[in-house]
Amino acid sequence: MDVSAPKSRTAPAIPPAPGQQPQWPDEAARDAVVAELRAAAPLVFAEECDRLRDRLAAVARGEAFLLQGGDCAETFRQTSAESVGATLRTLLQMAVVLTYAASVPVVKVGRMAGQYAKPRSAPAETRDGVTLPVYRGDAVNGPEFDAAARRPDPRRMRRVYDASTTTLNLVRALTQGGFADLHQVHAWNRGFVTDSPAGRRYEELADEIERSLLFMHACGVAPGEVHAAEFFVSHEGLLLDYENALVRTDDRTGTPYASSGHLIWVGERTRHPDGAHLDFLRRIRNPVAVKIGPDAHPDELLRYVDRLDPDREPGRLTFVVRMGAERVRDRLPRLVEKAVADGARVAWVCDPMHGNTFVTPTGHKTRRFDVILDEVQGFFEVHRALGTHAGGLHVELTGSDVTECVGGGSTVDMADLPLRYESACDPRLNHGQSIDLAFRAAEMLRG
Ligand code: PEP
Ligand code: MN
Repeated sequence: MDVSAPKSRTAPAIPPAPGQQPQWPDEAARDAVVAELRAAAPLVFAEECDRLRDRLAAVARGEAFLLQGGDCAETFRQTSAESVGATLRTLLQMAVVLTYAASVPVVKVGRMAGQYAKPRSAPAETRDGVTLPVYRGDAVNGPEFDAAARRPDPRRMRRVYDASTTTLNLVRALTQGGFADLHQVHAWNRGFVTDSPAGRRYEELADEIERSLLFMHACGVAPGEVHAAEFFVSHEGLLLDYENALVRTDDRTGTPYASSGHLIWVGERTRHPDGAHLDFLRRIRNPVAVKIGPDAHPDELLRYVDRLDPDREPGRLTFVVRMGAERVRDRLPRLVEKAVADGARVAWVCDPMHGNTFVTPTGHKTRRFDVILDEVQGFFEVHRALGTHAGGLHVELTGSDVTECVGGGSTVDMADLPLRYESACDPRLNHGQSIDLAFRAAEMLRG
């Protein structure tokens, strides 16, 4: 298979050096960890990745909707059953609401079990005259502002693998048992609707869902999907030492897969079409995604399609669009039009978080719930106008009651931000805000 770009879109002679990689101070320690990871069992299996690719093919064809969400940055401290369960529960609750509103299957994918490395806009950070390397996620260094914590430690990659194993074990167990039962998940949504002021406006929608469940029950319809949930995991494929060490060859086909997660994406800062991160995605057979920011050129998208999905296979490539609420209506249409005209058969997903971040006078990075909603609305409007499929949502969220984003759900205002600001990186929607977002998106989907 020839996957090189057509001549009209030739690559520069010298590819850029991989961006956002730590300078490991101890090469021997790095090599030892890489050797250990090369010998370790895969975290996910090729068949599972193929199944997710099939599910995403339905999204690309307009027959399903993707819900992808979780922490901006997972941390080693938070691998407890409580915290993993709370995030999972939040996603399952959102998925029920979206399934009902969209009347299509919702493909559920966590930003979980591997989301430990962060791209940063500056390599260093200065506080009170002291300058230290920036925190790059638990995969690389520690968040505390001291020289020892900020020193990159390659042994952390081993801890990423172990923490991901723990998280995956919880995810696999919880999604197969009563925890993921549709009736249970709906009962949680009921709680949100009756117990929170924000929830009251969704009473009618919740009633409709309940009647549908009772109807199904009365008819004796109880497919496996009612009692268990199909759930996948994803993360940004940023740290190439880690990702390369976990590539495994599928026995059935001899094809390489990333075994670090089902879906791997490349972020806004490392998406150079000729860069090492794109090259990594090109080499693996998993479903892959590329984040698309407001400055992306339509030709760049064609390059991604040529490189990552030369066979135009629905489900292989997803574009996660993160333009900002102010720009999505203006900038997205020409990207979608050009890609579609070129024969791309990708899934389009909206990340309404990363284009809408700002810092408050108290120094808290935050996002406004209403602005997040506005980007979702704009994304839906663009696709409706073009006759293309608004394929899903990619959100940063957590199951606990943090105070990191402003507005929505269990209303958080600016003054509340310091109360429970726990994110290791970007601000997340809390549990109530996430459910609120799902109900709002449901209203938009129903028009
Ligand atoms: C992220 O998803 O946390 C992130 C850094 O996103 P982006 O690459 O879109 O900025
Ligand atoms: Mn983020």
